Amino acid sequence: MSLIQNTIAVTAAFDSGNIQLVGIDSGGSHAARIDLNIAHDRQSDFYQWFHFRVSGVKGTSCTFRILNAGGSAYPFGWPGYKVRVSTDRIHWRMIPTRYVDGVLEFEWTGTGDLAWFAYFQPYTMERHDDLVARIALAPGVKHHELGQTLDGRSIDCFELGTGPKPIWFYARQHPGESMAEWFMEGLLERLTDTANPATAALLAKATFYCVPNMNPDGSFRGHLRTNAAGVNLNREWLTPTPEKSPEVLCVLAAMDRTGVDFAMDVHGDEAIPANFFAGFEGIPSWTETQGAKYTEFGQRLEAVTPDFQTAKGYDKAAPGRANLSMSTNQVAERFGAVSMTLEMPFKDHDPNPDAEFGWSGERSKTLAHACLDVLAEMIDGI
Ligand code: ZN
Repeated sequence: MSLIQNTIAVTAAFDSGNIQLVGIDSGGSHAARIDLNIAHDRQSDFYQWFHFRVSGVKGTSCTFRILNAGGSAYPFGWPGYKVRVSTDRIHWRMIPTRYVDGVLEFEWTGTGDLAWFAYFQPYTMERHDDLVARIALAPGVKHHELGQTLDGRSIDCFELGTGPKPIWFYARQHPGESMAEWFMEGLLERLTDTANPATAALLAKATFYCVPNMNPDGSFRGHLRTNAAGVNLNREWLTPTPEKSPEVLCVLAAMDRTGVDFAMDVHGDEAIPANFFAGFEGIPSWTETQGAKYTEFGQRLEAVTPDFQTAKGYDKAAPGRANLSMSTNQVAERFGAVSMTLEMPFKDHDPNPDAEFGWSGERSKTLAHACLDVLAEMIDGI
């Protein structure tokens, strides 16, 4: 026995944390009910991302209840969803989760004193900074700080390759979609692996511009969907401004200098349990040729990996009805690019499920490798 008595405590006061403690009911010595709310994004009604630590729970059967889950941005994301838990902040396993009457509930019996819970395997700004440093040191890589955010953080971009075709990958406009930056980590690791023959061929034919995190302010603040001013960056691509969306303004200005032949905007989807693309149907300048290359990319990706499919996805915009404030549409229209939004699941990729981890950071990284393999197959026609 220690002379210091532990009591249960909850905190989210850290990089990418989000939770509000409503109350702890320690009914018995070995049981507790912990009631929580998710905080909404600053100056916004959106919320869904959570990430918090609980301490003092060794041997205690805890029932967690997120009371305001029903009012979140995508309540249809909760049925069939499983919370991620970690005791080492490295491995994030799924645990059974109930969604009843607008409340998300899960149980955890403390194997140790500490545990972390999150909507999805987190990708912190600390890890982002480590990635930026590591990739910037790799041979042949140019680092660009394209601009700064409202909180003064950097919009980092890596330039790789010497070929004539400009290719853009950018991620995490929606900061709670942490799988998007795991994807970028995998992408950048493959693009800096010059021993890989597919990489060498791609870098001779194309120049890559990669923005691993479009929304560092929202990422640090534990937001779901917006930046420090409560702005959804993926509705800012028609008229970005320094006051509301400097993140988009600086990336679009760089794209205007390089041009864009191919672009992928990397996201996560709350509801659909599968990886899928959304395209640019409905842009004013739509051509069948441009659209066919987008379709072919998805079909080829489905052929090379069991972690992609083309059956499930969003409804397509009608002719002329594309929302040009969204980046995939704006980039396709503005540059004539083959442009797509990758959506990865918060749940799992049901066609190839993993009962222990679900969709994960590691699998997101591997999907990036498959995307580069397909790009290498198609680069001559893009
Ligand atoms: Zn998104």
